[in-house]
Amino acid sequence: MIFENSLAFAQSTDQQDPLNHLRDEFFFPQQNGKPFIYLCGNSLGLQPKTAKKYIDQQLVNWQNLAVEGWFEGDTPWMFFHKALKELMAPIVGASSQEVSPMNTLTVNLHLLMVSFYKPKGKRFKIIMEAGAFPSDQYAIESQVRFHGYDPKDAIIEVSPRAGEYTLRTADILAEIAKHGDEIALVMFGGINYFTGQWYNMPAITKAGHEAGAVVGFDLAHAAGNVPLQLHDWDVDFACWCSYKYQNSGPGGISGIFVHEKHFTDTSLDRFAGWWGYQEQERFKMTKGFVPEVGADGWQVSCTQVIPMALYYASLQIFEKAGFIQPLREKSKQLTAYLSYIIKEINGLLGEEQYQIITPKQRTTVAPSYRLLPNTIPKQYSRH
Ligand SMILES: *Cc1c(COP(=O)(O)O)cnc(C)c1O
Repeated sequence: MIFENSLAFAQSTDQQDPLNHLRDEFFFPQQNGKPFIYLCGNSLGLQPKTAKKYIDQQLVNWQNLAVEGWFEGDTPWMFFHKALKELMAPIVGASSQEVSPMNTLTVNLHLLMVSFYKPKGKRFKIIMEAGAFPSDQYAIESQVRFHGYDPKDAIIEVSPRAGEYTLRTADILAEIAKHGDEIALVMFGGINYFTGQWYNMPAITKAGHEAGAVVGFDLAHAAGNVPLQLHDWDVDFACWCSYKYQNSGPGGISGIFVHEKHFTDTSLDRFAGWWGYQEQERFKMTKGFVPEVGADGWQVSCTQVIPMALYYASLQIFEKAGFIQPLREKSKQLTAYLSYIIKEINGLLGEEQYQIITPKQRTTVAPSYRLLPNTIPKQYSRH
């Protein structure tokens, strides 16, 4: 597409956009009766207009059914999460058994590291990106200390080269290979919150596994934003918040992913609670924890019905959009247009007033990993 820096061009492109109608699904904050141009969806997504309806539905269920709401009504709370799992799965490229909505993001990061960070002997280190979101840094530092290590010894941060803002994939892979048998866990963001760099997740996963490590991702800025194939990429675990790119409201519910290959591993530690207990037997209230099979086995506390109702409202809009691929196409176009405009402004000002540090293309390495043919995302299939 040939871009033009004019309102008429932007409006006519909008009109031809097949996803155009979805704008009306959301409330925009207003000033003097005019909606803001909202560029903060990376921090808090907009409110779906249906959100209130979905909360009201649960308030009415609670009002009319009280405790019976767990098993009765139009959405028995006992099984409410199952409807969400079906819609979360295509967003991250997983089976519905591999995902579950629960808690909030940093809490889930801790719970998953309890299971998947298993330092032993020489293999006790965590490798991560330098400049990760602070909550992840604090979580990882405290996990390392919890196991009796000094973060200075146990955390390896991969940094950009001098004068660069983002990481080179080759540098990440080299660092993983270099520390090989010292690494217990490779824990990266999917997309870095600050630079917008989308890491080469399949290559990092493969390198981590070759080093004998477990590989996990924090997908706060990736889930709902870019196409993911967590199952086929063989990622061990992941978690994300849903209030950024997935519009589930402030403090919204988090999602977790656990790869199917871990379902039968009884050696995994967990911080258990009754809601992770085998669903069919949960209310027998017996002694001795038996986990539900799948990501649901990591649940700790009972279903957070209101936050889930909000996430459900939003997930239905994703379904309407055809999930991620159409959104990604649009996002690439919008980003390309914005960067064109920024370059125009720089040109008019005669200086580089604004610098774009987000990589235009994900840095790639020749992919030696295998993906199922029908799941190869567009950005890899060029090779
Ligand atoms: C937004 C964000 C968080 C926030 O964590 P909460 O537990 O939801 O407050 C954590 N990690 C990353 C990478 C984020 O982008």
